[in-house]
Amino acid sequence: MASAGTNNNLHAGHAAGTGAEGADPAAEFRLVPLHRLAGTSVGFEQSGAAVSINVEASMLPNQPGAAAAWPVAFGTMALAGRLSVMEDTVSLHPSFCVWAHGEPMHFLAVFDGHGGPNVAALCREQMHAILAEELAIAAEQYLAHRDEDGAEERAWRAALSRSFARVDALAPAACACGRVGWCACPLSSRPRSPIVGSTAVVALLVRDRVIVANCGDSRAVLCRGARAVPLSMDHKPDRPDERARIEAVGGQVVFLDGPRVGGILAMSRAIGHEILKPEVICEPEIMITIRSDDDDFLILASDGLWDVILNKMACDVAMECKKYGSPTSFRVVGSGQADHNIDYGTLVRQQLEPRCYEAATLLGRLALNRQSSDNISVVVIDLKVRV
Ligand SMILES: [Zn+2]
Repeated sequence: MASAGTNNNLHAGHAAGTGAEGADPAAEFRLVPLHRLAGTSVGFEQSGAAVSINVEASMLPNQPGAAAAWPVAFGTMALAGRLSVMEDTVSLHPSFCVWAHGEPMHFLAVFDGHGGPNVAALCREQMHAILAEELAIAAEQYLAHRDEDGAEERAWRAALSRSFARVDALAPAACACGRVGWCACPLSSRPRSPIVGSTAVVALLVRDRVIVANCGDSRAVLCRGARAVPLSMDHKPDRPDERARIEAVGGQVVFLDGPRVGGILAMSRAIGHEILKPEVICEPEIMITIRSDDDDFLILASDGLWDVILNKMACDVAMECKKYGSPTSFRVVGSGQADHNIDYGTLVRQQLEPRCYEAATLLGRLALNRQSSDNISVVVIDLKVRV
């Protein structure tokens, strides 16, 4: 589709360069040596961006159930929309850490800030780094108990819960740039709202698993065949179990322009919000899903999208982009030998997945046309190899 850079509200630094014409046809993503994977980390600002990465599973030792390569390719778009401030952030870190048997893990997340950008920026800067630390600890614990049923899933869940809690604990000291503690950046002089927080929807891809941790009302949706499968449940204060939890600790859900915790916050879980504790908690709900050959896309987005676009429609839009989008630059190279002369960090940055980017952009613009009144952030992850 047309470049989205003509819209002043778009934060789209990469928009003009992410079409198929911008792809280097000679660029190939080859087998990635594990020692390089461990150090590869790619982040993008809250602008449009599209990348793809493939990992040949045969490279990974001792991996049960990983006969096939499980690729990941993705594109993203974030728009301020009709608001003058942008408080959403997107964080993309393919191969941000290595799991217990040497498998690469990919991190993709959307954080939707409210009351200021501080906590969403903190999540963007810190969540993946803290999670990598916690996963390293969890991997050791898992390996010590690997014979126990469910040990691996327990390890993932514990690492995610601890990471959300650690980021939450840093929130009171977060600058609007995301740095913790004293900061001399131009944003540090902004007045800080006493009610500042952020949603977090974090997706981890490892082997044939999709792990989604959610806190707040951003959402993850899996497009599986013709179905839209929600991989998270919104934390709205009037959700019966959430309401019961809030009331059990002495809180109230008050209807003021919709259900709100204490008449203030329109979600029941979030990172930040020290003054709304214990009603508002940062504990994520975690859903672990086994990938299937029917899986087409995973879509992560803030409520600026989901308020006006149904899950199924979002999947349908992504599928249309798959059918009619520009050919992707994604190619699988399976020589079985790693090429140590290639700068894989640079290659990851160069790889493009135009159809994911087009899908994310189209979804964002569709939400705008449907009168979304919020910031809109979308990450579209292609779960199939498309050559
Ligand atoms: Zn700062």
